Amino acid sequence: MDAGGTDSNGREYKTADEMWNEQTGDVNKKTVWYRQGVSYWEGVNATVDGVLGGFSHVNEPDISCSDDFLKIILSERFSADVKPQPLVALDCGSGIGRVTKNLLIRYFNEVDLLEPVSHFLEAARETLTSGDYANLDTHKAVNFYCVPLQDFTPDIGRYDVIWIQWCIGHLTDDDFITFFKRAKVGLKPGGLFVLKENIARSGFVLDNEDRSITRSDKYFRDLFSRCGLHVYKAK
Ligand code: SAH
Repeated sequence: MDAGGTDSNGREYKTADEMWNEQTGDVNKKTVWYRQGVSYWEGVNATVDGVLGGFSHVNEPDISCSDDFLKIILSERFSADVKPQPLVALDCGSGIGRVTKNLLIRYFNEVDLLEPVSHFLEAARETLTSGDYANLDTHKAVNFYCVPLQDFTPDIGRYDVIWIQWCIGHLTDDDFITFFKRAKVGLKPGGLFVLKENIARSGFVLDNEDRSITRSDKYFRDLFSRCGLHVYKAK
């Protein structure tokens, strides 16, 4: 990746490769990168405000925009006459299950959650297996995987949609690419990934505190083409 970027302290990097090399250039550094990413979130409350970095007011507009986007995709690609039901989704970096609870479980018959921070995942499990959610036999959370994306391989052909929101910035470019290549086999024929992310105006911004990067739209598109994926729809 040849675009330059900055970090949260204003330091400039000439290229992303320079930054990746410095941050994750050997096995030890890479282990530290991922450990610090998870440690950051381990220190965060298992609440909507916690997983949204203090911006809980973003929850409602976020869900409503995602709802609009997902509805279009579902009608174009997954209507009952086109696609065998039940529909199954995977919520990646699910945190406390905010996206599953407010969005995915309304549309998908089964949702699996993947989240490396156990107190988040346990909060998700508690919400999604009790109260009203426990009675919804046709729309339910099924598997709760306490694993980071870079170590996850899905079951072959299980998912219609793999939803990845506000967590892919924790992955290095190499792990981003290998994740998507591995996860592809987890999609049913005609299935797709939905990636929802903040974007940088250009290049990237490294967050020194939570060990993640924000990539530009172009950066994402370059990575997708290196994954052998094409963009079906963007918003
Ligand atoms: N997607 C959720 C949570 C966003 S907060 C939502 O929108 O509500 C970012 C989440 O990414 C946290 O739950 C954090 O634990 C998770 N995360 C951090 N590193 C990760 C990794 N390597 N793989 C998967 N998830 C990760």
